[in-house]
Amino acid sequence: MQANMREDVSEVLLKGDVIQKRVREMGRQITEDYARLHPHLICILKGATVFHADLMRAIPLPLSVDFIAVASYGMSTHSSGEVRILKDLDESIEGRDVILVEDIVDTGLTLNYLVHNLQSREPSSLKVATLLSKPVRRQVEVDLHYVGFEIPDKFVVGYGLDYAQRYRNLPDICALRLEPRIDGP
Ligand code: IMP
Repeated sequence: MQANMREDVSEVLLKGDVIQKRVREMGRQITEDYARLHPHLICILKGATVFHADLMRAIPLPLSVDFIAVASYGMSTHSSGEVRILKDLDESIEGRDVILVEDIVDTGLTLNYLVHNLQSREPSSLKVATLLSKPVRRQVEVDLHYVGFEIPDKFVVGYGLDYAQRYRNLPDICALRLEPRIDGP
Protein backbone atom coordinates (compact mmCIF):
# COMPACT_ATOMS: atom_id res chain seq x y z
CA MET A 1 0.00 0.00 0.00
CA GLN A 2 1.31 3.48 -0.82
CA ALA A 3 2.48 5.41 2.26
CA ASN A 4 -0.10 8.21 1.89
CA MET A 5 -2.98 5.71 1.48
CA ARG A 6 -1.77 3.77 4.52
CA GLU A 7 -1.92 6.92 6.64
CA ASP A 8 -5.57 7.47 5.65
CA VAL A 9 -6.81 4.10 6.91
CA SER A 10 -7.07 3.21 10.58
CA GLU A 11 -7.10 -0.59 10.30
CA VAL A 12 -7.22 -3.44 7.82
CA LEU A 13 -10.53 -5.21 8.35
CA LEU A 14 -10.20 -7.89 5.67
CA LYS A 15 -6.96 -8.86 3.98
CA GLY A 16 -7.00 -9.42 0.23
CA ASP A 17 -6.31 -13.17 0.50
CA VAL A 18 -9.19 -13.64 2.97
CA ILE A 19 -11.52 -11.81 0.57
CA GLN A 20 -10.36 -13.92 -2.38
CA LYS A 21 -10.99 -17.15 -0.46
CA ARG A 22 -14.51 -16.08 0.54
CA VAL A 23 -15.37 -14.93 -2.99
CA ARG A 24 -14.32 -18.34 -4.33
CA GLU A 25 -16.61 -20.00 -1.73
CA MET A 26 -19.49 -17.75 -2.78
CA GLY A 27 -18.81 -18.67 -6.41
CA ARG A 28 -18.95 -22.37 -5.54
CA GLN A 29 -22.27 -21.91 -3.75
CA ILE A 30 -23.77 -19.97 -6.67
CA THR A 31 -22.47 -22.57 -9.13
CA GLU A 32 -24.27 -25.29 -7.16
CA ASP A 33 -27.48 -23.29 -6.86
CA TYR A 34 -27.55 -22.32 -10.56
CA ALA A 35 -26.40 -25.64 -12.06
CA ARG A 36 -28.08 -25.99 -15.49
CA LEU A 37 -29.07 -22.29 -15.46
CA HIS A 38 -27.52 -19.26 -17.12
CA PRO A 39 -27.25 -16.65 -14.37
CA HIS A 40 -27.18 -13.00 -15.35
CA LEU A 41 -24.84 -11.12 -13.02
CA ILE A 42 -25.73 -7.44 -12.70
CA CYS A 43 -22.96 -5.30 -11.28
CA ILE A 44 -23.93 -2.17 -9.37
CA LEU A 45 -21.41 0.45 -10.48
CA LYS A 46 -18.93 1.45 -9.39
CA GLY A 47 -18.24 -0.11 -5.99
CA ALA A 48 -19.06 -3.71 -6.95
CA THR A 49 -16.77 -3.85 -10.01
CA VAL A 50 -13.87 -5.65 -8.31
CA PHE A 51 -16.14 -8.12 -6.51
CA HIS A 52 -18.19 -8.73 -9.68
CA ALA A 53 -15.05 -9.40 -11.72
CA ASP A 54 -13.71 -11.90 -9.17
CA LEU A 55 -17.09 -13.52 -8.49
CA MET A 56 -17.91 -14.19 -12.14
CA ARG A 57 -14.54 -15.93 -12.57
CA ALA A 58 -15.43 -18.19 -9.64
CA ILE A 59 -18.62 -19.39 -11.40
CA PRO A 60 -17.85 -21.84 -14.24
CA LEU A 61 -21.35 -21.62 -15.77
CA PRO A 62 -22.52 -20.01 -19.03
CA LEU A 63 -23.32 -16.67 -17.42
CA SER A 64 -23.84 -13.18 -18.78
CA VAL A 65 -23.25 -9.77 -17.25
CA ASP A 66 -24.72 -6.29 -17.27
CA PHE A 67 -24.11 -3.06 -15.37
CA ILE A 68 -26.31 -0.52 -13.64
CA ALA A 69 -25.22 2.72 -11.95
CA VAL A 70 -27.08 4.44 -9.15
CA ALA A 71 -26.42 7.73 -7.40
CA SER A 72 -24.11 7.15 -4.46
CA TYR A 73 -23.16 9.16 -1.41
CA GLY A 74 -20.96 11.46 -3.45
CA MET A 75 -18.45 13.09 -1.15
CA SER A 76 -20.25 12.14 2.06
CA THR A 77 -20.16 8.99 4.20
CA HIS A 78 -23.90 9.07 4.94
CA SER A 79 -26.80 7.82 2.84
CA SER A 80 -29.13 10.53 1.62
CA GLY A 81 -31.86 7.92 1.14
CA GLU A 82 -32.34 9.24 -2.37
CA VAL A 83 -31.71 6.69 -5.13
CA ARG A 84 -31.42 7.59 -8.78
CA ILE A 85 -30.47 5.42 -11.75
CA LEU A 86 -27.56 7.08 -13.53
CA LYS A 87 -26.99 4.30 -16.07
CA ASP A 88 -29.62 1.67 -16.79
CA LEU A 89 -29.12 -1.93 -17.92
CA ASP A 90 -28.26 -2.51 -21.57
CA GLU A 91 -30.52 -5.58 -21.89
CA SER A 92 -33.96 -6.71 -20.80
CA ILE A 93 -33.99 -9.08 -17.80
CA GLU A 94 -37.45 -10.49 -18.48
CA GLY A 95 -37.43 -14.25 -17.89
CA ARG A 96 -33.80 -14.30 -16.80
CA ASP A 97 -32.17 -15.59 -13.62
CA VAL A 98 -30.68 -12.43 -12.22
CA ILE A 99 -28.09 -12.09 -9.49
CA LEU A 100 -27.66 -8.51 -8.35
CA VAL A 101 -24.04 -8.01 -7.27
CA GLU A 102 -23.50 -5.31 -4.64
CA ASP A 103 -20.40 -4.22 -2.75
CA ILE A 104 -21.97 -3.34 0.60
CA VAL A 105 -25.42 -3.14 2.15
CA ASP A 106 -25.59 -0.39 4.73
CA THR A 107 -29.05 1.15 5.35
CA GLY A 108 -30.47 -1.12 2.63
CA LEU A 109 -32.15 1.83 0.89
CA THR A 110 -30.23 1.47 -2.38
CA LEU A 111 -30.82 -2.24 -2.68
CA ASN A 112 -34.45 -2.00 -1.62
CA TYR A 113 -35.07 0.48 -4.43
CA LEU A 114 -33.17 -1.57 -7.00
CA VAL A 115 -34.78 -4.88 -6.07
CA HIS A 116 -38.26 -3.39 -6.48
CA ASN A 117 -37.26 -1.69 -9.72
CA LEU A 118 -35.79 -4.88 -11.20
CA GLN A 119 -38.65 -7.10 -9.96
CA SER A 120 -41.05 -4.96 -11.97
CA ARG A 121 -39.14 -5.99 -15.13
CA GLU A 122 -40.25 -9.60 -14.52
CA PRO A 123 -37.07 -11.65 -14.25
CA SER A 124 -37.57 -15.39 -13.79
CA SER A 125 -35.70 -15.06 -10.47
CA LEU A 126 -33.81 -12.34 -8.63
CA LYS A 127 -31.23 -12.90 -5.91
CA VAL A 128 -28.72 -10.62 -4.26
CA ALA A 129 -25.02 -11.29 -3.69
CA THR A 130 -23.25 -8.74 -1.53
CA LEU A 131 -19.65 -8.85 -0.44
CA LEU A 132 -20.29 -6.88 2.76
CA SER A 133 -23.21 -6.19 5.04
CA LYS A 134 -23.46 -3.82 8.01
CA PRO A 135 -26.54 -5.27 9.77
CA VAL A 136 -26.63 -2.71 12.61
CA ARG A 137 -27.15 0.10 10.09
CA ARG A 138 -30.19 -1.38 8.38
CA GLN A 139 -33.23 0.90 7.92
CA VAL A 140 -35.15 -1.40 5.55
CA GLU A 141 -35.02 -5.17 5.45
CA VAL A 142 -33.77 -6.61 2.18
CA ASP A 143 -33.32 -10.31 1.41
CA LEU A 144 -29.61 -11.02 0.99
CA HIS A 145 -29.05 -14.47 -0.51
CA TYR A 146 -25.24 -14.51 -0.58
CA VAL A 147 -23.25 -12.45 1.93
CA GLY A 148 -19.45 -12.43 1.99
CA PHE A 149 -18.84 -10.83 5.38
CA GLU A 150 -20.85 -9.04 8.04
CA ILE A 151 -18.87 -6.08 9.33
CA PRO A 152 -19.29 -3.56 12.18
CA ASP A 153 -20.49 0.02 11.73
CA LYS A 154 -17.34 1.46 10.18
CA PHE A 155 -16.88 3.28 6.90
CA VAL A 156 -14.71 1.01 4.79
CA VAL A 157 -12.72 1.44 1.59
CA GLY A 158 -10.75 -0.78 -0.77
CA TYR A 159 -11.50 -3.74 -3.06
CA GLY A 160 -13.73 -1.45 -5.15
CA LEU A 161 -15.19 0.62 -2.31
CA ASP A 162 -14.38 4.31 -2.28
CA TYR A 163 -14.47 7.47 -0.31
CA ALA A 164 -14.83 10.46 -2.67
CA GLN A 165 -13.76 8.16 -5.55
CA ARG A 166 -10.48 7.19 -3.89
CA TYR A 167 -9.05 3.97 -2.44
CA ARG A 168 -10.93 1.61 -4.82
CA ASN A 169 -7.59 0.07 -5.82
CA LEU A 170 -6.60 -1.10 -2.32
CA PRO A 171 -6.49 -4.93 -2.36
CA ASP A 172 -7.60 -5.08 1.32
CA ILE A 173 -10.77 -3.71 2.91
CA CYS A 174 -9.81 -1.05 5.42
CA ALA A 175 -11.61 1.25 7.84
CA LEU A 176 -11.15 4.88 6.92
CA ARG A 177 -9.62 7.27 9.42
CA LEU A 178 -12.30 9.96 9.35
CA GLU A 179 -10.91 12.31 11.96
CA PRO A 180 -8.56 14.87 10.33
CA ARG A 181 -4.93 13.98 10.71
CA ILE A 182 -2.92 16.37 12.84
CA ASP A 183 0.62 16.37 11.60
CA GLY A 184 3.29 16.73 14.24
CA PRO A 185 5.51 19.81 14.45
P1 IMP B 1 -27.23 1.85 1.52
O1 IMP B 1 -28.24 2.35 0.54
O2 IMP B 1 -27.17 2.70 2.75
O3 IMP B 1 -27.36 0.39 1.85
O4 IMP B 1 -25.81 2.07 0.87
C1 IMP B 1 -25.34 1.32 -0.17
C2 IMP B 1 -24.24 2.02 -0.92
O5 IMP B 1 -23.57 3.01 -0.12
C3 IMP B 1 -23.17 1.04 -1.30
O6 IMP B 1 -23.44 0.51 -2.56
C4 IMP B 1 -21.91 1.88 -1.29
O7 IMP B 1 -21.74 2.49 -2.54
C5 IMP B 1 -22.18 2.94 -0.25
N1 IMP B 1 -21.59 2.60 1.04
C6 IMP B 1 -22.23 2.24 2.17
N2 IMP B 1 -21.38 2.00 3.18
C7 IMP B 1 -20.15 2.20 2.66
C8 IMP B 1 -18.82 2.09 3.22
O8 IMP B 1 -18.58 1.73 4.38
N3 IMP B 1 -17.81 2.38 2.36
C9 IMP B 1 -18.00 2.76 1.06
N4 IMP B 1 -19.22 2.87 0.52
C10 IMP B 1 -20.28 2.59 1.31
